[in-house]
Amino acid sequence: MYAKVIVDITHEKLDKVFEYSIPGELAGMLKVGMEVVVPFGRANRETRGYIVGFSEIPEYTPEQIKPILRKEEDRRAIESRLVALAAWMKEYYGGTMIQALRTVLPIKKKGKLLQKRWVCLALKEEEGRERLAFYLEKNQRARARLLAGLLDQPRQEYELITRKLNITPSVIRALEEQGVLAVETKQSFRNPAACQVKKRGEVILSEQQKKAVDIFAMDYGEKKYGTYLLYGVTGSGKTEVYMEMISRVVKEGRQAIVLIPEIALTYQTVLRFYGRFGGRVAILNSRLSEGERSDQMERVERREVDVMIGPRSALFTPFKNLGLIVIDEEHEAAYKSEQVPRYHARETAVMRARLEDASVVLGSATPSLEAFYRCERGEYTRLTLSGRAADKELASVYTVDMREELKRGNRSILSDKLSGLMTQRLEDGQQTMLFLNRRGYAGFVSCRSCGYVVKCPHCDVSLSSHKNGRLVCHYCGYEEPAVKVCPSCGSPYVGGFKAGTEAIEELVKRRFPQARVLRMDMDTTRTKDGHEKILSAFANGEADILIGTQMIVKGHDFPNVTLVGVLAADMSLYTDDYRAAEKTFALLTQAAGRAGRGRKKGEVIIQTYSPEHYSIACASRQDYEGFYKEEMRYRELMGYPPVAQLLAVLVTGGEEELLDTAVRYLKEFILRAAGDREFQVIGPASPFVGKVNDVYRRVIYLKSRDYHVLTVMKNYMEQYIEINKGFQTLRIQFDFNPVNIF
Ligand code: ADP
Ligand code: ZN
Ligand code: ZN
Repeated sequence: MYAKVIVDITHEKLDKVFEYSIPGELAGMLKVGMEVVVPFGRANRETRGYIVGFSEIPEYTPEQIKPILRKEEDRRAIESRLVALAAWMKEYYGGTMIQALRTVLPIKKKGKLLQKRWVCLALKEEEGRERLAFYLEKNQRARARLLAGLLDQPRQEYELITRKLNITPSVIRALEEQGVLAVETKQSFRNPAACQVKKRGEVILSEQQKKAVDIFAMDYGEKKYGTYLLYGVTGSGKTEVYMEMISRVVKEGRQAIVLIPEIALTYQTVLRFYGRFGGRVAILNSRLSEGERSDQMERVERREVDVMIGPRSALFTPFKNLGLIVIDEEHEAAYKSEQVPRYHARETAVMRARLEDASVVLGSATPSLEAFYRCERGEYTRLTLSGRAADKELASVYTVDMREELKRGNRSILSDKLSGLMTQRLEDGQQTMLFLNRRGYAGFVSCRSCGYVVKCPHCDVSLSSHKNGRLVCHYCGYEEPAVKVCPSCGSPYVGGFKAGTEAIEELVKRRFPQARVLRMDMDTTRTKDGHEKILSAFANGEADILIGTQMIVKGHDFPNVTLVGVLAADMSLYTDDYRAAEKTFALLTQAAGRAGRGRKKGEVIIQTYSPEHYSIACASRQDYEGFYKEEMRYRELMGYPPVAQLLAVLVTGGEEELLDTAVRYLKEFILRAAGDREFQVIGPASPFVGKVNDVYRRVIYLKSRDYHVLTVMKNYMEQYIEINKGFQTLRIQFDFNPVNIF
């Protein structure tokens, strides 16, 4: 046996893997991730390295290969655990070890540390409150927001304020000139007293919150490290529970990672963690430069950080003694990587926690079916918070049947009921959000008279209309000609749903000429921070109506929004994706959660052609468990995750004929290599976007009850592709339980 060893864990040098032989006394004792000492270079200098793999056949002539000298006994280096995690990711998700290592290991860049700047309140609290009242009276919202933040916490990082509170440097400068605040660096630290982080008044946890914390803490105290699902609606107090759990872990000298979807990583959330854990919190987000990321990792290494908050990639923070990983909004698609290795942060967190004796807490109002299913099977522990924490009511939700509107002659995108409520809101000076559900829009065909949708007879997902005029299934490749009249009721109102946000904006402006309207979609958010600018303008009351795609549903809190209209709720229901109903349910629930966050109760209108569909019916009742039951029945019946496992094999190439031949061979190989393993092969099919930038795409699906069968088949395919010359010009990617369909 030979071992592959990397001796330098820096990103630039990761692909240099060296081969060493394993001496007899170490045979059978080495594992991936272990730290070993090897002779290196001409002088055979003793050097530390990590084992990243094994092989039976050496790549070099055996005489040239040097032996490993010894393994390091007690060093539980964090690198070693991360290398082991990378090895698991490679096996579980496919790709190369190098790709996995690059994902997992921190970037180390020696550069100058950035000078940290702080914004500090320069007024006494009472003066500050008076000034705040003044700004509010003058309607200077950005100033008011900044000052309110400082009154809450008189000393804050400059970067945090500009990035997360959407406060521009000019606002900070203006308040500095007025003597309201001071900007300080380490060198110019003038008034430490005013700048101390204010301790927040502690929240008294409710019975349910306490119970959730107790169950976790009891297990933790007994070193029973597990995975928990904290299930509670938005505003039910999940964040308070996370913070309490984290503080227990931190008290024992261990660290915590908090994953939050990037778009929901709001200033308010971050502030609460700062308030609780002070300067021992670090934040990662995609806007940090490589140097800034590296700084944060430095702080981690110097043990200055107890809590790391960030999106997916923060999962790999190299804490020396990790105790807890929290994943907020665990159902979010953003937790799945779209780059090789296509890992899911939830599963990877559970694995990292297992390798390091840590616990995992998942939180959601609309848990992923995976997480809820694992609770039902006793693999995860469910902790429930019912109802909202601070006595706020949930919004009232109504569905409007758009088929009835059509019957009454209203062919507009807005139902009469929604129009009426919008008029009321304009008169009352309250805000409205119109949400156009376009997620994953893939050209399904439906009837506006009866709601019928054309589906694949084999896969029970919607067919997509292709340019050649045919309707195609993206799982199995089934095709049929396009329809001109509804196969169910004969109506001619059959076709794709085409309205975009721009068309809706025009319509709304025509219908409500007095209203100030903002639109948020891919077009209006192209510039850097464009999307936060629009959201903060809306939060500041600069518009009455905000129209947008799913981007507007997450993140910000809009206390003055009392009406949310969901246009075409069905749009995401009939994408060609087995998760369509789950995504729709989560989106509708989330959209409903936007209304009535302030003191006034909210109303939600869901416009749909299929009010009877369980996804829409359950969302309007805000009934997750009802939805879960129905959806699981469908997944059982069709053999989709989480009941069965799905592996997508995506093959791409520039020559269509070659691609088709290769994919045919690959399928034959799969069937030959199957042996008595139980799985199903579906396809090959052309994905919706059959060709992107002159690259053709084909996909084969493997479906099995046993994940392990799929990884074994993936390994066979990887070998087959490597030795087969015909695949050299093609690219192959594996995606386990894909979140987005190709
Ligand atoms: P979630 O994370 O589930 O959306 P939060 O933890 O953000 O919920 O709580 C919503 C609001 O209720 C916050 O303003 C929070 O401070 C408040 N809150 C939560 N728990 C309590 C409690 N036990 N007592 C008083 N206020 C609470
Ligand atoms: Zn019809
Ligand atoms: Zn099909």
